[in-house]
Amino acid sequence: MKILRAKTAGFCMGVSLALHRLEQAMASMPELTRRGQRLLTLGPVIHNPRVIKEYEARGVLCIDDPGQARRGDHVLIRAHGIPRHVEEELIRREAVILDATCPRVKAAQLAIEKQRKEGLGTLLLFGEADHPEVRGLVSYADGDALVFGDIDALEALALNEKGAYYLASQTTQDIEAFAQVKDMLHQKLKSPVPILETICGATRKRQLEAYRLAGKVDIMVVVGGLNSGNTRRLADIARSQGVPVVQVESAAELPRAMFQGKERVGLTAGASTPADHIRGVHEALAGMG
Ligand code: SF4
Repeated sequence: MKILRAKTAGFCMGVSLALHRLEQAMASMPELTRRGQRLLTLGPVIHNPRVIKEYEARGVLCIDDPGQARRGDHVLIRAHGIPRHVEEELIRREAVILDATCPRVKAAQLAIEKQRKEGLGTLLLFGEADHPEVRGLVSYADGDALVFGDIDALEALALNEKGAYYLASQTTQDIEAFAQVKDMLHQKLKSPVPILETICGATRKRQLEAYRLAGKVDIMVVVGGLNSGNTRRLADIARSQGVPVVQVESAAELPRAMFQGKERVGLTAGASTPADHIRGVHEALAGMG
C-alpha cells in the first residue's frame, strides 16, 4: 500500500505561534504558583483533545468563561481570538492577557471593525455560528451581522435586495463554497457587495492539496480533532472527490478493514494536529502493508 502524505498536513502558522506563546508562558509557572496565580487558556488552545490533556497534566488550566479568571491570573487568548466583551471582562477582572490571536484572524477582526466604523452596512459572515472565531469576528461588527453556514442558510436569510451589506468569511472556510456565496450575492443584490477576503492562505493551500490528493488515491485519511472545523472541512473536500474518507484522532481509531485491497492511501491533517499524531497514523498505515 502506497501512502501519499500532504506536504501541508499539520500545524499552521497561527497554531504554532499560539503553542509557542504558551510554552514561553509556562516558564513563569513556578513564580505564578508561588503567588497563588494560575496560567489559563480561554477555551482549548487548539482543537485537539489529546494535546489539551497533555497541557492539563503540565498544570495549564482551560477555562470556558472569563468569569473564572482571577486577579493576576495569566490568560492566554488562543489563535481563534475572542469577542471584544470577553476581552473587556478579562481586563475588568485584572487578569494578565497573553494575546495569541493568529495575525490573520486579527487582520480579519480589524477589517470588519473598519467596515463597521465606515458604516458600510451589515456583515454577512460565512462561517459556523457557534465557532469561537466567528463569535469574535461578529463582535467587531458590533453585532450587526448575519452568520450563515452554507448556501441554503444564506438563501433563508431573506436579504433586502436594496440593503447595504459586506461579506467576510471565517478564516478556515471552504474556498469553493465562498466563491459560490459571492456569485449568489452578486445575483441577488442590486448594489455590489464589498468583499473581505478573510480565508487564510494556509487554509487555501491545505484544501487545495487535500482536493488534489483525494483525486489520486483509493482512500483518504484525515488526522485531527473531531471538534476541529478545519479538519472536518478537509474531510468534506476529500469526500467531494468521491473517495472514502476516514477521519481519526489517533492510529488506534483506524478502521483496518477499510484499507483492505487499497493500493494508494492519501494522508492529510488539520491545522491543529501535532506532528507526532500524524506520524503515528502514518506508521500504522505503513504497517498494514
Ligand atoms: S488557519 Fe490560518 S487564520 Fe486560522 S489559525 Fe491557522 S494561520 Fe491563522
